[in-house]
Amino acid sequence: MTSNDATLAAARDRFERLKRANAMIDMTRGKPAPEQLDLSDAMLNILTPEECADVNGQDYRNYGIGHGIPEAKKLFADFMGVKPSEIIVGGNSSLNLMYDTLAGAMLFGLPGSAKPWGKEDEVSILCPVPGYDRHFAICEQLGINMIPVTMTETGPDMDEVERLVAADTSIRAIWCVPKYSNPTGVTYTDETVDRLASLKAAAPDFRILWDNAYAVHHLGRGPERVKDILGACRAAGNPERPILFGSTSKITWPGAGVAVIAGSETTIADLAQKMSFATIGPDKINQLRHVKFFGDVDGIVKLMDAHAEIIAPKFAAVERVLEERLAGLGIASWTKPDGGYFVSVDVLPGCASAVIAKAAEAGLKLTPAGATWPYGKDPEDRNLRLAPTMPSVEEIERAMEIFCTCVELVCLPKLAG
Ligand code: PLP
Repeated sequence: MTSNDATLAAARDRFERLKRANAMIDMTRGKPAPEQLDLSDAMLNILTPEECADVNGQDYRNYGIGHGIPEAKKLFADFMGVKPSEIIVGGNSSLNLMYDTLAGAMLFGLPGSAKPWGKEDEVSILCPVPGYDRHFAICEQLGINMIPVTMTETGPDMDEVERLVAADTSIRAIWCVPKYSNPTGVTYTDETVDRLASLKAAAPDFRILWDNAYAVHHLGRGPERVKDILGACRAAGNPERPILFGSTSKITWPGAGVAVIAGSETTIADLAQKMSFATIGPDKINQLRHVKFFGDVDGIVKLMDAHAEIIAPKFAAVERVLEERLAGLGIASWTKPDGGYFVSVDVLPGCASAVIAKAAEAGLKLTPAGATWPYGKDPEDRNLRLAPTMPSVEEIERAMEIFCTCVELVCLPKLAG
């Protein structure tokens, strides 16, 4: 009997025991835990009626100020590293802003477009993989073709990106999650940012969709730095190229946060004009209470230290069990992120769906296989995304026991085969 045979036999026994324990653990989505949401409870009664009415001669309880109150524009401009004239502060969802931006591009085009994207024969967007499933879902819904590009430890494979973008006029944009990327945790290097900024694109209206969803979401060592994309694009002579997105969904509350979109003044004027047909104004009271709650960007960063204290032990538990159970078996590799909301695991090709099905038998729900790829299809069926923030540390330890046992059960026979 080889040592792998012994590991497999032990995994079979353990799996039967784990099944009998009737666990019910959900690691499908990157949601903050209730204790993280509690950190912002002071916002619920932070404002007096006097503070909401007749501020700067405006009544924030009423209609108007479609692009964000000045106080919020100042705070979130600092947060995004842009000028107040380069940002719109909106409602609670940055995904909503991404959807509207692409829907607007399809219907009306963007500054520099010869015609609406939807009137082109074909529109494609580059999708670094593994990536964020909801970016891919927006493209699929709008009929935008998705072209996967490999994600490396420095960002998207820029040789591949440069080659594709230079040759294909249908490629109109690239999705980027530049810091603590979903799901790999990768932060783009300065070189990657500069190469993106100066790409020679065949399409005149090529855009970088810069979704900085995890801008300050570190796991204990303070936020990493990512180079200023707007400045880099301006310096490269492509000022209209980047469209930046951000939100406080995982800073305050996903159900009642503040989302922003930023870019050059030309970009912002175009977006504001399109938006003016869709809304008479966002929730200004929510914007104001965020401003009062944080004070300034340092207030945001301080709150994220408290988040890190809650979630870092959960990520540590994931890593500990993976190391103890799977290191050296040659069946899986995983990321060790310094921030963000996910751990990305690659198992042997052809095994990811089976691992997920096995884990479900033992009461552990995982993100569906393929979710990190365009069209939900991982061609090698090997990438799995773990979302450790929501369950408790004890639940994570149990979940990871189930997970590692399932990886052994599914992958070890393949290795032998
Ligand atoms: N962008 C990325 C990369 C995400 O991972 C998420 C949520 O998981 C979002 C955007 C959602 O943002 P919002 O809550 O602001 O709509």
